[in-house]
Amino acid sequence: MSADILPFNPVLYPAPASTKWPINGDLSSLLTRFDRPGPRYTSYPTIDQCVESVGAAAFTDALKARCVGGLKRPLSLYVHVPFCESVCYYCACNKVVTKKHDRSTQYLNRLEKEALMVARIAPTGLSPVTQFHMGGGTPTFLNDSELLGLVEGLKRVFPFSAKAEMSIEVDPRTVDENRLLHLRSLGFNRISFGVQDFDPAVQKAVHREQSVDSVSTLLNAARRWGFESINVDLIHGLPKQTLRSFSTTLDRVIELSPDRLALYGYAHLPSRFKPQRRIHDADLPDAATRVMLLRMAIERMQAAGYEYIGMDHFAKPQDPLAVAKRQGRLHRNFQGYTTQPDADLIGLGVSAISKVGNLLVQNVRELPEYEDRIGRGELAVFRGHEGTREDSLRHAAIMALLCQGEIHFSDFSQAFWIDFPQHFALELGLLRPFEDAGLLMLGPDGVRVTDLGWLFIRPMAMCFDAYAGRPQIERSKLL
Ligand code: SF4
Repeated sequence: MSADILPFNPVLYPAPASTKWPINGDLSSLLTRFDRPGPRYTSYPTIDQCVESVGAAAFTDALKARCVGGLKRPLSLYVHVPFCESVCYYCACNKVVTKKHDRSTQYLNRLEKEALMVARIAPTGLSPVTQFHMGGGTPTFLNDSELLGLVEGLKRVFPFSAKAEMSIEVDPRTVDENRLLHLRSLGFNRISFGVQDFDPAVQKAVHREQSVDSVSTLLNAARRWGFESINVDLIHGLPKQTLRSFSTTLDRVIELSPDRLALYGYAHLPSRFKPQRRIHDADLPDAATRVMLLRMAIERMQAAGYEYIGMDHFAKPQDPLAVAKRQGRLHRNFQGYTTQPDADLIGLGVSAISKVGNLLVQNVRELPEYEDRIGRGELAVFRGHEGTREDSLRHAAIMALLCQGEIHFSDFSQAFWIDFPQHFALELGLLRPFEDAGLLMLGPDGVRVTDLGWLFIRPMAMCFDAYAGRPQIERSKLL
């Protein structure tokens, strides 16, 4: 049943302590208490639960078992292009920084070989690709003819549905209007522009400079060429960002009027991500400013008519994501929020992730090793995780929270034959402090997140994560 037609039942859900936005100080104390780094749950379990004892053999078995018995699980395809011409200092992606464009020749050869290898194992003919995504790195590091060869080659190997969603991440510095037209002619119908921030001081501090005018020209061209959905990515918490500068960036983005906006929070982890060592701690906004940046962005996007989809995503009310959310059809996969139901995912390229049935696997993360293994005719998988029934159950609970902001216990009794409150007694206990703070309503038939609670949806979801990230402080209070 959709969130639209399920009326809010005050008997099942006692009134929350507060559904109003608290003043900044209170919000800050809520963030201090509940906010913690955690997964974005584009999968559950998350990729870091993979182990090296589950590898290429398990992937081969899972591919062979696809579509057994005539079942037609839809297929999603992801291609990772790791190359970037220059490094952005906030970057946490798997990439190779190079200006040598001939580096892509061998890589494209390996991608083709990998696609053929996977396709020979899997009976893909039974289910065409319904979702195709190119990410990186910078997919538009490839020139027009390379992109053409890649997309045409993939279409020869994997049949694409006529209605397939085809999306690509675009660094505005690497394309012009003609290149966008070329992408459109290849069948791409969704495009995502990495903007991050328009303020010159911020752009300089993160080593990514691009003007409002150039991005505006590209967005207008993308509209003219008929891309069905245009997304802009922003990041809050970047060095040199102030309330005033970010307010101006938001003004510009609202004027650009993308269909969707992703607003990510910058996580400064210089010990893990080398480029971040070029960012000076002193330039980073303090915790209070970060809270205000986020709050301002949410209020401004909503005032401009965007609907809050969840986590860090906004969409115009008529965008398919917003419609799917209202109708209770929203899903979440490796591409983030999506209208597509659960599909098998085949990831091609260095560090790419695949999920086939209950098996999650990842390719090696170093480019030379990837190219060597594929060159020798071996799959490049180096680690994996075979999901259990308990994983599926927890995945369903986490997705219900992240996509709809509610869990109906009866859905789980029907689908999994469990008594939800009994099975998840500890997890519901972990959610009590969120309820006491007015972030969540717990009732005898279900759980529902309040408006304010959406800001804390990730730590709430972490309560159902059996592997990592449980809020230990809150947990210890219960035991
Ligand atoms: S943020 Fe994107 S463009 Fe910048 S270095 Fe990382 S992958 Fe490359």
